Amino acid sequence: MRQIHHINLKDESGRIYCCLRNKVVKFDEKQRHDFCGGCSMFAGEAGGLGVECVWEDLRPVSDPHTAQDPAAEWRSNQIKHIWPADHLATCIVNTT
Ligand code: SF4
Repeated sequence: MRQIHHINLKDESGRIYCCLRNKVVKFDEKQRHDFCGGCSMFAGEAGGLGVECVWEDLRPVSDPHTAQDPAAEWRSNQIKHIWPADHLATCIVNTT
């Protein structure tokens, strides 16, 4: 599985997409302290522009992957992706 470096930039309201919480959150001191501080995915603060998180991503994204719109990033992460190579191993074919 691919470990992707995600650069989650804050939007105009200071929000980012958090993979751990699977939601859009305000990237404030509470988020930093209560969640990012103990999160194994934490990989930096994007030069003060947001948060960097490393996690396995099944989507066909680049590495690093930059997310500028946290709501769009959340929506994209709700779609379940199946690798083409895995497809036949997981589907049931009815031949009748
Ligand atoms: S480091 Fe963890 S808790 Fe913080 S935004 Fe990333 S996924 Fe969420």
